[in-house]
Amino acid sequence: MHTNTVAQLALGLQRRDFSSTELTELYLDRISALDDTYNAYITVNAEQALAAAAIADARLAKGTGDALTGIPIAHKDIFCTSGLRTSCGSRMLDNFVPPYDATVIKHFDAAGAVILGKTNMDEFAMGSSNENSYYGAVKNPWDTSAVPGGSSGGSAAAVAAMLAPAATGTDTGGSIRQPAAFCGVTGLKPTYGRVSRLGMIAFASSLDQAGPLARTAQDCAILLNVMAGHDKLDSTSSEEPVPDYTAGLDKPLQGLRIGLPREFFGDGLAASTAAAIDASLKELEAQGATLVEVSLPHSKLTIPTYYVIAPAEASTNLSRFDGVRYGHRCDAPKDLHDLYTRTREEGFGDEVKRRILVGTYALSAGYYDAYYKKAQQVRRLIQQDYLDAFKDVDIIAGPTTPGPAFALGAKSNDPLAMYLEDVYTLAVNLAGLPGMSVPAGFVDNKPVGLQLIGQHFDEARLLNVAHRFQQATDWHTQQGAMPQGK
Ligand code: GLN
Repeated sequence: MHTNTVAQLALGLQRRDFSSTELTELYLDRISALDDTYNAYITVNAEQALAAAAIADARLAKGTGDALTGIPIAHKDIFCTSGLRTSCGSRMLDNFVPPYDATVIKHFDAAGAVILGKTNMDEFAMGSSNENSYYGAVKNPWDTSAVPGGSSGGSAAAVAAMLAPAATGTDTGGSIRQPAAFCGVTGLKPTYGRVSRLGMIAFASSLDQAGPLARTAQDCAILLNVMAGHDKLDSTSSEEPVPDYTAGLDKPLQGLRIGLPREFFGDGLAASTAAAIDASLKELEAQGATLVEVSLPHSKLTIPTYYVIAPAEASTNLSRFDGVRYGHRCDAPKDLHDLYTRTREEGFGDEVKRRILVGTYALSAGYYDAYYKKAQQVRRLIQQDYLDAFKDVDIIAGPTTPGPAFALGAKSNDPLAMYLEDVYTLAVNLAGLPGMSVPAGFVDNKPVGLQLIGQHFDEARLLNVAHRFQQATDWHTQQGAMPQGK
């Protein structure tokens, strides 16, 4: 049963083939049997999950269930959950129990979904390998000596190891797509503003966006239907109407124009990964799509631009963690200054401190124009490259990452090497566009992902292309040598 998709599980629940309580128990058992190996969860929500499952079962028995009623979902530990610890992967929030739910969590709750637990992540979502978590690294289920990607690595590993049928993640510069690629699951980062950020602990507010990770594009569509929508409590959320993302999944791809950015297929892309991407593109071509070369001339500026803007925004967002209001507080502070400095010294890990320092520097008087303002100007140019390319094509495709998952420890002491991992994902956030990663083959027995990038609010088309691709391929259904549990 644990190999089923959300769509299949929902059908089983509605037919009463099994109950939500049975399903939830099965996943809780799998987590307790297998998660010592992967470390995908920070907090397991066993008791409350079973209570929620019983409520879902009552609703299903009355015949009033929706697509997600009774489905267990894992949430990245960045979403505030009322009464359930929300750590954001940080010692700073190790003791933080939010008094309210994030809007995303409220939506899942209203749909009758069950919260299995909170997944591991890089501290404050800063990272590409999940090695920056206060709760220890997550292991890639395909190869436990490799990273799962980050920062939503716990969510991706939980779905890959079948410790949850689907999960939520957030993506500021690739944190849904990159771990999805490394773990062989399907992940979608929606258009900026499509999903409410209320109650999602802020990293870089102009880039952060929540989205689903699941086995299939169809499941991502089912989750996005619940997640998307305007929130009057988030002024950056969009009023654009939410379509039914499952409605157009089967549409034929005849006539679809796919742009292939020249800059994505050059140096830096491993040959074996390039071969897997080429084969995937041929599959789309066989379904009637045409491949068109496009250019994104400012691509080489995305890493420096992102790594000024994201730390700048992080430095202001993280100033609230001061030991006064909530979260970690140092013992016996001598005075206010000591309280601030020791709390932050003890509460934050190295990468978070690095970002705060870089961001504070980039925003400081005298450097603001040279760094932050300049980065925002370049960001506009990067966005314009995409808007220009979309005059000729419907979607853009390429690799999600330069290669498959790397070894644990391989880049953890080299921040610049780590940042290079984000080369294909960052621009999508800088431009506010939707992007997906879809399993597209294996290199060295590890999954690689095909990235699909869409125009603003064109998630339905990305899901359609990904779904058609998954109807013709089986990369997303493979399970490798993962322990299956019971
Ligand atoms: N890897 C990028 C970073 O470290 C992106 C992280 C994210 O999307 N949250 O900032």
